[in-house]
Amino acid sequence: MITTKGYAAQSPESDLAEWQFERREVGPYDVQFDILFCGVCHSDLHQIHNDWFPGIFPMVPGHEIVGRVAKIGDKVTKFKVGDLAGTGCMVDSCRTCDNCKEGLEQYCEQGNIQTYNGRNKYTDGAPTYGGYSNTIVVNEDFVLRISDKLSLAATAPLLCAGITTYSPLRHWKVGKGHKLAVLGLGGLGHMAVKFGVAFGAEVTVLSTSPNKEADAKKLGAHHFVVTKDPAQIQQAVGTFDFILDTVSAPHDMNMYLSLLKMNGVHICVGAPSEAHQISAFALIGGRKSVAGSGIGGIAETQEMLDFCTEHQIVSDIELIDIKNIHQAYERMEKGDVRYRFVIDMATL
Ligand code: NAP
Ligand code: ZN
Ligand code: ZN
Repeated sequence: MITTKGYAAQSPESDLAEWQFERREVGPYDVQFDILFCGVCHSDLHQIHNDWFPGIFPMVPGHEIVGRVAKIGDKVTKFKVGDLAGTGCMVDSCRTCDNCKEGLEQYCEQGNIQTYNGRNKYTDGAPTYGGYSNTIVVNEDFVLRISDKLSLAATAPLLCAGITTYSPLRHWKVGKGHKLAVLGLGGLGHMAVKFGVAFGAEVTVLSTSPNKEADAKKLGAHHFVVTKDPAQIQQAVGTFDFILDTVSAPHDMNMYLSLLKMNGVHICVGAPSEAHQISAFALIGGRKSVAGSGIGGIAETQEMLDFCTEHQIVSDIELIDIKNIHQAYERMEKGDVRYRFVIDMATL
């Protein structure tokens, strides 16, 4: 076993603290990489607080992981020692169901194996532990190739915030001629703005934070609407083809649905713990749809990373010492992220 150092929550009530644990030995198809940077996703907060479902504790969060390959199994072909490597939200899936075969492992009919707060039934059945740690062992098929042409720390958030926004924009073919609203300017939201602009859409940020307007424009957004201002909302009624909803907390969907044009689609990627209440009338008038999207498959994640390399797209980050993780969480709870915290794992 590989002795690993990390930061874990021992229970949903406890703060994260240093914790030592074991990872499996490197198997024939495994890649072990030393973690250099790990992004901090709002899903980390949801999961350590048991917002969605009872979690597996101790829990080592982190699913925006980049580092350098330290060891490979003898059957590994995709990586060699010294390469940069990354892992996102999942580390395995059944690989045989229709969705897996289509490269949609995130929608595996058996459930994908989450990078943390899961149990890898295809290997040793042990709980999975995430990227707030110094090293990780992952089957090579779930390890992504990472370019050395971009800032490595700023690449980490692409593994979740990046793919989670890239995938739905590609699925709904959002681009030239479309008016896209990005709801919530946080980790996911700021990546959605960058991709929306790169794909040629006219992008509006819908935000509760008036003080994010200058940043939104710097990120490339064409318009900014303060959602707490009824006059600004009134002006935006009936204007968008798509709303990409990245909000982590409960919010009134009916109000946002009124901002869609005829046939408009409201795409949920944000995952508040409470169910949305939607009036049928908010959908009927204008034949509107509400949809959802989860991360992205492995092939699409690689496509997104390659797209980012080609277009020089990375996340706007604040690099933090792991000892300051709780301050980062507190700021995240208040919507004060600019626009992704990334842990420098050298501080572990
Ligand atoms: P984040 O960085 O904390 O950003 C969330 C943003 O939502 C905030 O910055 C804020 O933006 C806005 N917001 C917060 N509370 C709000 C409220 N009460 N009403 C309206 N807006 C509010 O979070 P994140 O890491 O981007 O994650 C966002 C959500 O996506 C989380 O629920 C996360 O679990 C989920 N997620 C889903 C997937 C998936 O596969 N579907 C993948 C990753 C994450 P403003 O200041 O601009 O209002
Ligand atoms: Zn995430
Ligand atoms: Zn499957």
